Amino acid sequence: MRAGAVGFELSVLLAGVLLAGMLHLVGMALAQALLLVIAVYLARHIYLLWRLARFIQRQHRLAPPFPLGLWGELYRAVGRYQQRSRKGRKRQLRFQRRFREAANSVPDALVVLSKSQRIEWANPAAAILLGVNWPEHEGRLLTEVCNQSGLRDYLDTGDYGRPLEVAAEHDQSTMLSIRVAPFGERKRQRLVVGRDITKIFHLNMIRRDFVANASHELRTPLTVIAGFVENLASSALTPEPHRRPLSLMEKQTNRMRSIIEDLLTLSRLELEDTAGNVATVNMPQEIDQVVADARTLSNGGHEIALDLDRDLMLIGNQSELRSAVSNLVFNAVKHTPAGSHVHVAWEDDSAGPVFRVADDGPGIDPEHIPRVTERFYRVDKARSRESGGTGLGLAIVKHVLNHHGAVLSIASEPGSGSTFTCRFPPESRLRRQQQPHSAQAL
Ligand code: ADP
Repeated sequence: MRAGAVGFELSVLLAGVLLAGMLHLVGMALAQALLLVIAVYLARHIYLLWRLARFIQRQHRLAPPFPLGLWGELYRAVGRYQQRSRKGRKRQLRFQRRFREAANSVPDALVVLSKSQRIEWANPAAAILLGVNWPEHEGRLLTEVCNQSGLRDYLDTGDYGRPLEVAAEHDQSTMLSIRVAPFGERKRQRLVVGRDITKIFHLNMIRRDFVANASHELRTPLTVIAGFVENLASSALTPEPHRRPLSLMEKQTNRMRSIIEDLLTLSRLELEDTAGNVATVNMPQEIDQVVADARTLSNGGHEIALDLDRDLMLIGNQSELRSAVSNLVFNAVKHTPAGSHVHVAWEDDSAGPVFRVADDGPGIDPEHIPRVTERFYRVDKARSRESGGTGLGLAIVKHVLNHHGAVLSIASEPGSGSTFTCRFPPESRLRRQQQPHSAQAL
């Protein structure tokens, strides 16, 4: 606030007092004169206050000339504030326009839903992919406008970790991937993103079929070759110099057979999103059998300790779960030196059943951990091959766990060992005493 403005107000007051004195000199009563001066002074204030209120109410722009004194300061300050907020509004509108233009040029369908799942906004791609037209459908329920199969359940579950992949309702040859991202206040609004994944889907199908067919086609000739090699390698008639190459051939054919079996297992797992043939799986029994095989593989080289909740069963696919368990337990034997300790646990956690394999072997460097579940990814290729690894074990584990709604986590410290933990959802747990009823219900 400028000192001049205060000075002006004080001078007006002083002038008022002087005027009252002069009026008194020309015969007016002093009280009357003072009252008159105060009334004029107040009238000015009320007028300027009323003018300011009217400007603000009507959202008129306050522009010079401004009144003198403190009121002038106030008018100027309000004018500046108006200008700033006008600029801010313009910036906001510009940003909004740019955002809309960008969103409109995105090839993916974008639909903004209110807390009550009603359409608030959608881009043009939403009309093509989901049949949602904005602004015509504004305020309507998304599930009412877009009767895409599975969408209602997907929205209701609130579990948007994985996208919904479905054939588009308007054109069954188009594959859609629908994702939902909660946002806004307490994440109660939803952004629905629909993407045309037809091309990727078909490419993936071609790749999957190719791998499955190639593996299948290779299996029979390889079985024949392996049979002959095995016979020749063990035959007494085989000349001595041929024995070593034959035994190497036998080893390699067995490796190829393992790879083909694992590839076929992966192809089978990829065919479905969830586990088929779901039943009550006696996990402690499965683990016992796998550990017995692992002890044979280790040939007494490892100390394998078990910590199993014997009453804890799991609802799932028995052969898939067996395969996941054996890959993890065998890895702990294959990838650790003789003398290592392996701890296998099956326990009930408050968040659901947990299967854990821990070892005190060489561990895995942190940069490899995110990649070890990729097909054919091996930290040490030569060592993995030597130990009979195919590089597909953890990829199989990951697929099996996906089928069961479970998650794999890997913790490892190079030099101290690794821990592989599989967390199953609580609804897949079954206690032994519950078994007869629940098993029948399945
Ligand atoms: P593999 O057939 O080679 O075992 P996997 O997919 O099962 O293939 O494992 C991928 C890689 O992860 C392995 O080659 C190995 O380098 C690493 N790995 C898996 N388990 C362990 C473990 N318990 N300790 C150290 N490394 C491991």
